[in-house]
Amino acid sequence: MSQSVNVLLQQDSELLWHPYSSLTAPSPVRLVRGASGVRLQLDDGAGGTVEAIDAMASWWCMIHGYRNPVLDAAVKNQVDDFSHVMFGGLTHEPAIRLAERLVEITPASLQHVFFCDSGSVSVEVAIKLALQYQVARGNNGRTRMLTVRGGYHGDTFAPMSVCDPVNGMHSLFTGALKEQVFGPQPPADFDRSADDPELQAWAAAISDLAEQHSDEIAAIIVEPILQGAGGMYPYSPACLRVLRELADRHGFLLILDEIATGFGRTGTLFASEHADVEPDILCVGKALTGGYLTLAAMLCTTDVARTVSDGPGGALMHGPTFMANPLACAVALASIDLLLSQDWAARVGAISAGLSAGLAGARELPAVKDVRVLGAVGVVQLGGPVDLPRMTEAALRRGVWVRPFRDLVYTMPPYVCTDEEIATIAAGITGAIEEAG
Ligand SMILES: *Cc1c(COP(=O)(O)O)cnc(C)c1O
Repeated sequence: MSQSVNVLLQQDSELLWHPYSSLTAPSPVRLVRGASGVRLQLDDGAGGTVEAIDAMASWWCMIHGYRNPVLDAAVKNQVDDFSHVMFGGLTHEPAIRLAERLVEITPASLQHVFFCDSGSVSVEVAIKLALQYQVARGNNGRTRMLTVRGGYHGDTFAPMSVCDPVNGMHSLFTGALKEQVFGPQPPADFDRSADDPELQAWAAAISDLAEQHSDEIAAIIVEPILQGAGGMYPYSPACLRVLRELADRHGFLLILDEIATGFGRTGTLFASEHADVEPDILCVGKALTGGYLTLAAMLCTTDVARTVSDGPGGALMHGPTFMANPLACAVALASIDLLLSQDWAARVGAISAGLSAGLAGARELPAVKDVRVLGAVGVVQLGGPVDLPRMTEAALRRGVWVRPFRDLVYTMPPYVCTDEEIATIAAGITGAIEEAG
């Protein structure tokens, strides 16, 4: 058995790209033998299996855990009906019901839904919609996005253009990438109040920038309240209110990318609720299907939908092959209903408290620069870059799967983790940093 595993891993290293990887110097990967509940079963390289709690929820997705019986059944039932049909000229109940549910649970002004295959594509569609909106209003020069530093919006070209220029290695793509307008990163901390001097200085800087470029900007795009893959960085709801006000003042649309923060992760169903701000366009993905299948959605207001539909072209110019895939829609609907059928806010609150208590000790470690917890997200920032293979191994030996990046070791666990499992994750991360930080 372990012989064949080694052969498989050898093939993997020769055949496959993993995320942000090299084919000449591939970093080690683990073979997954199974996954159930909150645990991954990984091959241990010696013919056996090692079990670990998935502290990453497969990158924000797997909120109800693996092999969830409700979600398994939703997929199986839909397979018995039909797995896929084209969405041109055809429609189906899973798409209609899911759209209805998304309109119900997202901010009230969002009334129309576009389904696509991945988060990046939903951001592409959101940006395209904003550009078409400005053309329809006769604002033809408005072709740029205003955003802030430290963001992450996906890996295809339009999303990449609004990712942080340094983290996103924009220098590799000079000349090929649309040059967007970047404002400063909002000052750190969720709890900062609107009259905080640093926050006011930030607001003044971003307001100046908006003023300066108002004839060129179609929309503001940000991740509300928590920047994810750009740096796991929470900021104040007051900053989001500043951006809404700027958009209104200058006729920009506000696009909120809730692909990571959606479905309860920050303690409210959508992070924008912390600020009581409604976007013109919203992107959701990741936890949308409970991690079962790839699906994302772009929602927009009736004003945006009508303006674009009545504008030149008379249509939103996008239509992916696998648009509104019925399997994905069916499992997404089941995942949302499962979430709403429980006191999910209490669960996220308990995870938040567990992570705050469990990671408090990490603050004292010499390698640690900062510890922050927001909702069911716990982040330990080190003083320097993480030794990825060593840190991963050290956490695995403590029964925890993490995937650090840059100087960050972090967790966004499945909501179905027990208090004990949250304590194991926090202790595993703290212990791993003590050993390998
Ligand atoms: C993951 C992510 C994306 C990209 O989604 P993919 O499904 O990986 O294309 C975009 N925005 C945010 C905030 C994300 O976290």
